[in-house]
Amino acid sequence: MKKKLPESFECKEPVPVLEDELIYSGDNGMLICKKCAGQSALYTGRAISGQEVLAMPLSQNAVWKRFFGEDMTCERGCTSYAP
Ligand SMILES: [Zn+2]
Repeated sequence: MKKKLPESFECKEPVPVLEDELIYSGDNGMLICKKCAGQSALYTGRAISGQEVLAMPLSQNAVWKRFFGEDMTCERGCTSYAP
């Protein structure tokens, strides 16, 4: 006989926790965006290593550019804070 599972046991579609247009700091300070983050970071906010991914504030781009000579950009170059 098949038991009916309580409603709270139903599978839900995973919801991404990262936002479009933002750049995050991942493992070892690697810069990632929503598209480059990988499934673990995208859905849990933590990289596969368990390290939390942190949103980089857009306001830091000017500081970043002064130090590194370029705009803050994700590792694959698909998202950038270039003005
Ligand atoms: Zn990217």
